[in-house]
Amino acid sequence: MTSKRDYYEILGVKKNATLDEIKKAYRGLALRHHPDRVPHEQKKEAEEKFKEISEAYAVLSDSKKRALYDQYGHSGIDQKYAYEDIMRGGDWSDLGDIGGLGNILKMFMGGLGSGDIDNAFDSFFGFEEQGRQTRRKGRNLEIAVGISLEEAASGVEKSITIPRYEFCSACGGNGVKPGTKRVVCSQCKGQGRVAFVRGGFQFVQPCPKCGGEGKLTQSPCPACHGEGKQRETHHIKVRIPAGVYTGSNLRVRGEGEAGTAGRGDLYVVIEVSPHPVFQRHNNDILTEVTISLTKAILGSEIDVPTLNGHVKMKIPSGTQSGRVFRLKDKGILDLRLRGRGDELVRVIVDIPRDLTAGQRRLIEEFARISGDDISKETFKEKITKAFK
Ligand SMILES: [Zn+2]
Ligand SMILES: [Zn+2]
Repeated sequence: MTSKRDYYEILGVKKNATLDEIKKAYRGLALRHHPDRVPHEQKKEAEEKFKEISEAYAVLSDSKKRALYDQYGHSGIDQKYAYEDIMRGGDWSDLGDIGGLGNILKMFMGGLGSGDIDNAFDSFFGFEEQGRQTRRKGRNLEIAVGISLEEAASGVEKSITIPRYEFCSACGGNGVKPGTKRVVCSQCKGQGRVAFVRGGFQFVQPCPKCGGEGKLTQSPCPACHGEGKQRETHHIKVRIPAGVYTGSNLRVRGEGEAGTAGRGDLYVVIEVSPHPVFQRHNNDILTEVTISLTKAILGSEIDVPTLNGHVKMKIPSGTQSGRVFRLKDKGILDLRLRGRGDELVRVIVDIPRDLTAGQRRLIEEFARISGDDISKETFKEKITKAFK
């Protein structure tokens, strides 16, 4: 993944800048770098700059995206939003018409399918790739990644191995044996399409011999058998944000398969493994702790497991079995950054089963003082006694 500049730095504003300040900074920069206002030879540079400041503005003028960016930086934004989703957010009102900004924004937001934005940008600024060959984005890939509940709670960086097709290193992806060239297609004479007449109408269709490319490969690349692609294993690091759950889908831009118009995206599907101690309920976690009868009666301080090691928890005297205690903020960080969940601890009182003679004597004594009838007579015996 390429390194990106800090959004605040791009707009030249402070981290705590207000929306008005951000808006003002963007308006100034957009006017200065508008591609229509620079000499022709600086157009490409201006286009890049304009894209950069517009993306920074789209994020920082959207309070939700800004919060995400403040906490996780570029990876937080890029893993959650595709480029067009970034551009569709943001506050574009009250900016005035910055030299046809409206036209540009229409392209960002108006009826474009995913993945078309970059192409639209290129054609708008006149950098459309010339040539007959259709340029395609590489395929999107999907990969399942298992993480523990602890990792889901606080976020984690994972190394991921992706098997994917890369352009063949021997031929550079054109499928032609190195040192040889493709020849002009004999059927379409390099046009890529053929015309025929039927029923008085002229039809044009892609050339069947060359597939519309206008050229034919006579000596295919031996390394990839003319495919232009090779299967390779690729390693990347992905930052998984806190709060994900099983089925969460993270989009990593530009880590899919290679295509002539750039790489597709990688979708990382999260699977959180069941935990031996904790059950998850939204952002809260539940656990059970068994305590002795005497601790329940007298009160005590007990050891409780949390996602970050053990903590001491006070239980009051007279704690009933099944009572639930809440440990604030010991749960899972919310994916949308709405705070952290709690840990709920259900206390189960362990009733001793095998008493020693000494223990039994003391318990019987306790019962006697409490006025508890613990005679061993059965109900039947009691009834018989009563009617004698
Ligand atoms: Zn090859
Ligand atoms: Zn042809």
